[in-house]
Amino acid sequence: MLTRSEILSSLERLLPTVQKPGRYTGGELNQVVKDWDSVKTRVALVFPDIYDLGMSNLGLAILYDLLNQRPEVLAERAFSPWTDMELAMRSSGIPLYSLESKHPLIEFDIVGFSLPYETLYTNTLNALDLAGIPLFSADRTAQDPLIIAGGHAVFNPEPMYAFIDAFVIGEGEEVIHEIVAVHQAWRERKGNREDLLYSLAGIEGVYVPALYRAHYHPDGTFSRMERLCERVANPVVKRIVAQLPPPLTRFIVPYIDTVHNRIPIEIMRGCTRGCRFCHAGMITRPVRERPVDEIVDAVEQAITQTGFEEIGLLSLSSSDYTQIVDLVQAVNQRFVDRHLSISLPSLRIETVSVDLMDAVMDERRSGFTLAPEAATERMRRTINKPVSTEQLIETAHAIFSRGWPTLKLYFMIGHPSETMDDVQAVVDLCKAVLSEGRKVLGGRATIHAGVSTFVPKPHTPFQWVPSETIENIRAKQGLLKRQIRGPGLKLTWTPPEETLMEAWLSRGDRRLAQVIYAAWQRGARFDAWKDGFKYQAWMDAFTETGLDPAFYTHRHRPPFETFPWEHISTTLRKKFLFDDYLRSQREETLDDCRQGCFACGILPAFAEVRRQNPGDIWKCPDVSPRLQIKVEEIALSEALD
Ligand code: SF4
Repeated sequence: MLTRSEILSSLERLLPTVQKPGRYTGGELNQVVKDWDSVKTRVALVFPDIYDLGMSNLGLAILYDLLNQRPEVLAERAFSPWTDMELAMRSSGIPLYSLESKHPLIEFDIVGFSLPYETLYTNTLNALDLAGIPLFSADRTAQDPLIIAGGHAVFNPEPMYAFIDAFVIGEGEEVIHEIVAVHQAWRERKGNREDLLYSLAGIEGVYVPALYRAHYHPDGTFSRMERLCERVANPVVKRIVAQLPPPLTRFIVPYIDTVHNRIPIEIMRGCTRGCRFCHAGMITRPVRERPVDEIVDAVEQAITQTGFEEIGLLSLSSSDYTQIVDLVQAVNQRFVDRHLSISLPSLRIETVSVDLMDAVMDERRSGFTLAPEAATERMRRTINKPVSTEQLIETAHAIFSRGWPTLKLYFMIGHPSETMDDVQAVVDLCKAVLSEGRKVLGGRATIHAGVSTFVPKPHTPFQWVPSETIENIRAKQGLLKRQIRGPGLKLTWTPPEETLMEAWLSRGDRRLAQVIYAAWQRGARFDAWKDGFKYQAWMDAFTETGLDPAFYTHRHRPPFETFPWEHISTTLRKKFLFDDYLRSQREETLDDCRQGCFACGILPAFAEVRRQNPGDIWKCPDVSPRLQIKVEEIALSEALD
């Protein structure tokens, strides 16, 4: 394998021959380069897709900043090379390297992967392979880097259990320091690899899969997860930070265009709306908000340090931020001369007020996005996103009236109990909204319908439901393609094969690790990319391993089935999720729990944290001594269920 200096000289020769060499050079404004030999711990943070996407990953940017604040630690970045660069690297013997110092990844102490979605799994294997790091955790020695992974997808870590040494479940801001501390102590005592794994498993929120064994029933369904040592946790409870720390402001400024050329400021974490399909909404509870002043100060610092002119005020549902209008107005007032553009990427139809629309400065008036997710009120009750069609049309009218010519509408097809009439309603709604736009803007009004397909996710009320069949998805998409066309209408959709792959992996068990490996060996990578996705490689991998993909996607799961992700706890009670699933079948909705707590399970699990952090920061009720008793009763009754 080439050394660092050989990598540098080979890159000089190779980079002019590949697309977008700026992906591979590093050297951007605000990158941090430390003296390699003067630190104790070196961490590589990897987003296993291309730079253009990975540079917008806020989680990785936060960890990069936190780790580099420590004098004895360095953190550097790595991304998957695009196929042309991978070919060039492999033919020249260049291993995957970090952008800052160009050290091969295998020379780092810790390599951390961000896995926000399942379509990055084969790229993770490819990155390990390109780095020359043994793919399987069991083959690594104390001389190899520790491989960790975090992100929303790892709330079901089992399909990747064979490749990752330790998963971080939940929020990483505090636990990353604990992992570094454990690693440093282990290095000092010159421990072996088993010693490191056991030590990591002692950290709350860290799951070391090698210390557990999965058992299955004769019919192939999951039976239980056995701890191989009494000292390891079961379940492994997710980590949260009690209060969000001040936002990151020192962002790296890429030389090339990336997916989002803006400053991302997270204004709130968690969501209390309870959309039943929404994985993120379930796993990121409780809702915690940042104060307005803190956000406005962060915007100022970030502008000064980066020169960006667009601010993204991010959360799962930005219009639910309690003081959203005040916040946007405060940003407008403070930066009135700077011609800033503010984007609010996730808005709920019922909370997009006229005041908010007026407050958002978007001089380009390019597009406004709403996500009704379903087009009939029946379906929206089923998925617990209750908003009336009338309200949607009114909101659309108000948006067009304020000069936005394009309205993006996000829908999902394949929801439980959906019929072709519900899909036809997507067409009708798009046309109704377009006609509303034409009343205001004439032929300039445009509707862009983005239609994805529902994938049942673990830890949600829909974790029991079968996925839609590929035949039905094709029939539904066919209807949409035939009818959402013509002037002013645009349609995009997700290929059904991609949806199925996400569905296998989302609710998969340990046995799927063999499928991922076999698919990767057959060339699967860049599964999130239309051009890269190799459906046949996955099908062949299932055949080779003797597993049936339909078992993971189309099987009806009975209420009493134990799931292979239950040893990972979001702290939401299974009974809460199942009751909500039954409610969906009755087309009943559940209110925003800020109006009244439904005892989802967060408070019993984090009662002490909440008690130490009372007040408005959290949107769950305060834990008074009386409530303390109540939540303990809930926990007890759950344990007896
Ligand atoms: S504990 Fe209550 S208020 Fe908090 S997230 Fe759960 S249901 Fe909502």
